[in-house]
Amino acid sequence: MSEIIHSKLLILGSGPAGYTAAIYASRAMLEPILLTGIEPGGQMTITTDVENYPGFSDVVQGPWLMEEMRDQAKKVGTKIILDTIIDVDLSKRPFILKSDSDVVYSCDSLIISTGAQAKWLGLESEAKYKGYGVSACATCDGFFYKDKKVVVVGGGNTAVEEALFLTNFAKKVTLIHRRKELRAEKILQKKLFDHPKIEVIWDSEIKEILGSDNPPSVENITVRNMISNAESQIDVDGVFIAIGHSPSSKIFKDKLKISDTGYILTDPDSTATSITGVFAAGDVTDDKYRQAVTAAGMGCMAALEVESLLSSEES
Ligand SMILES: Cc1cc2nc3c(=O)[nH]c(=O)nc-3n(C[C@H](O)[C@H](O)[C@H](O)COP(=O)(O)OP(=O)(O)OC[C@H]3O[C@@H](n4cnc5c(N)ncnc54)[C@H](O)[C@@H]3O)c2cc1C
Repeated sequence: MSEIIHSKLLILGSGPAGYTAAIYASRAMLEPILLTGIEPGGQMTITTDVENYPGFSDVVQGPWLMEEMRDQAKKVGTKIILDTIIDVDLSKRPFILKSDSDVVYSCDSLIISTGAQAKWLGLESEAKYKGYGVSACATCDGFFYKDKKVVVVGGGNTAVEEALFLTNFAKKVTLIHRRKELRAEKILQKKLFDHPKIEVIWDSEIKEILGSDNPPSVENITVRNMISNAESQIDVDGVFIAIGHSPSSKIFKDKLKISDTGYILTDPDSTATSITGVFAAGDVTDDKYRQAVTAAGMGCMAALEVESLLSSEES
């Protein structure tokens, strides 16, 4: 028989949403347990410079910021366990969750802050320069490309919005798309085509990202035309991959209301999901903002909503 660990509140995920929920819940004496998942610290641990998280006048490093959040959560009493949930039973309370280390967790309330993963092209050179010229977030990193040349990869709304946003900084933005037409809304396409700083390269993909090693930085890319197979080199300083995100919500499929694109649905202005006692915060429920500070804000909301629910049930 597997070990069973019970808590009033179980928090899944150790990104900004999970740690913030843990800080608020611990300070509300809910004695939460937080499971880190396989990526302790979440997405911010795969980036370098962070310049938009409030509270720091200097640039901070993503992994450092997450260690600070972890230490703060620990300090106020959160029990943090390195474990990953693989199966859930949300049909009745307490909820039952099974982990990949064969532990069973039961809880009166649950905060799901399992985040999302940016989709990448899968090139070795892309992995090499991630955080050093290759990014999946123009809102986060666009500011670092003032008067530089960047490319955006993708053809949907996000890619077009990111390309337009990057024109605020970059001197030239090149959109590279695998097809001859974009999937983005027509109004966005018009803005893109009308913009003097933007060029579109059709029917093409990035074959390789090239740069220097010390310090690591991107210098150019090899682009392959998918029809003619012809290859060309373009000088660039930054590469933004905008081919979508996958929310980490698979284990909740058919257990909670989830959008067609996999985001956990919550009530308006709330983190409450379709099941009483289950809350969702951060990128797993947010296909729009996807920022550390918005994830943290939702983590705070979720903890306050758990506190309110549990205390109303006690009285
Ligand atoms: C390259 C890059 C750079 C970025 N730069 C910035 C920036 O400069 N500023 C900014 O504000 N935002 C930035 N972002 C976005 C930011 O990282 C995310 O918006 C934020 O991390 C979302 O936080 P989250 O807590 O919702 O989830 P995540 O950070 O995605 O964390 C999810 C957590 O859930 C855990 N988990 C997943 N599945 C399970 C499971 N089954 N059981 C238990 N745990 C599980 C994971 O291990 C992880 O700890 C960047 C993102 C990327 C990819």
